[in-house]
Amino acid sequence: MLSLEEAQAAIIEGMVTASETETVDLAQAHLRYLAETVNACVDNPAFDNSAMDGYAVSTEQLVAANFRLPVVGESSAGDAPGTLLPESSMRIFTGAPLPAGADAVVIQEDIKFDGEDIVFPHTVQPGQNIRTRGQDFRLGEPLYNTGRRLSAYDIALLAAAGVSRVSVFRRPRLLVVATGDELVAPGSLLKPGQIYESNRQATLLMAEQLGADVIDGGTVRDDPDAVRELLQNSVDYDFVVSSGGVSVGEYDLVKQVFAEIGDINFWKVRIKPGKPVAFGRLGEHCHFFGLPGNPVSSLVTFFLFVRPALSAWHHGSMTPLVLSASATTDYRRHAGRTEFLRARLENVEGNLSVTPLPGQGSHMLGTLRQTNALIRLEHDVEGFAAGDRLSVIPLTTDIS
Ligand code: AMP
Ligand code: MG
Repeated sequence: MLSLEEAQAAIIEGMVTASETETVDLAQAHLRYLAETVNACVDNPAFDNSAMDGYAVSTEQLVAANFRLPVVGESSAGDAPGTLLPESSMRIFTGAPLPAGADAVVIQEDIKFDGEDIVFPHTVQPGQNIRTRGQDFRLGEPLYNTGRRLSAYDIALLAAAGVSRVSVFRRPRLLVVATGDELVAPGSLLKPGQIYESNRQATLLMAEQLGADVIDGGTVRDDPDAVRELLQNSVDYDFVVSSGGVSVGEYDLVKQVFAEIGDINFWKVRIKPGKPVAFGRLGEHCHFFGLPGNPVSSLVTFFLFVRPALSAWHHGSMTPLVLSASATTDYRRHAGRTEFLRARLENVEGNLSVTPLPGQGSHMLGTLRQTNALIRLEHDVEGFAAGDRLSVIPLTTDIS
């Protein structure tokens, strides 16, 4: 059985990465992955400008005039750069071009009017309150590399850099199916023995967030012919993500049929939850993930395996941020597997603390209401004591 790291490495190695690209407008580039290095089209700031509302001065002239100058002219945002007249200051606003000849801006709160003149403080320094040209980035400077998934922040930076279109990898076509005779869609009446299907919904949404073109393949019955048909018809997708049917029960057909038709890379990993999880290839370029049926196992294995796979397919890499937090309680367990505990991460007076939540069964979704992080326990660890420092992966940046 593979360790978590071995399984993750096998996935990255086993990727048939994207080659087709398309050029899209910046507005369509959100959550897409760059297929090129993108360079800045302008200096930013594009010209020296004022960081504050106030008065532009030449520090040399200010000293010569004993910190007293009249105001002549004005520079506001959008104006073309003007010129500071000798022995004068100029009214200036935030973002407005610094007039030629000026080398400082004095904020309006720091001056006093005395008749026609302004009295300036004696502390004015060259460069103060000026945003200099190219201070942020320079024309031609590489801003992003291939494989970067573009967030809204990235779109803001690219827009500021004058980039209007970018080359991105085409979206992977990703089919999501659930397997199991017991599954019915929420909204229908449950017959005895049936349960509501929940994995498919979440998997579709998570894959969409990762830039995939998702296709809902519905629920497949626990019937070898149905599973065979599904897998045989899947070779044109880039990814198939199924849930259920991968453990060792008699009805766990997905793994058996996949072994017949596809190329299994692995089907068990030393982790908890999610020990039965299959990965391999169908045909030339379809990556198959057989996630476990238990809802929490399917969520966690998506996070651990499908997420980095999608990023690697797009020539990127995605590593979750790991924080260090102190445990609020003791926890005992049997060593052997790398374990992920659903947990509540909190900031207690500036220190991160983390609490493993009650209800860790991999069928138990209720705990997700409080979960905002996963505690990671290494395979050889037998638990922890209150106060121990733990590795914690935050799942959200919000407290709710
Ligand atoms: P399996 O991996 O098929 O043996 O399923 C393990 C457990 O997860 C069983 O209790 C299933 O009923 C449940 N399960 C499987 N698939 C789903 C699903 N899509 N939504 C909710 N529960 C599921
Ligand atoms: Mg099943």
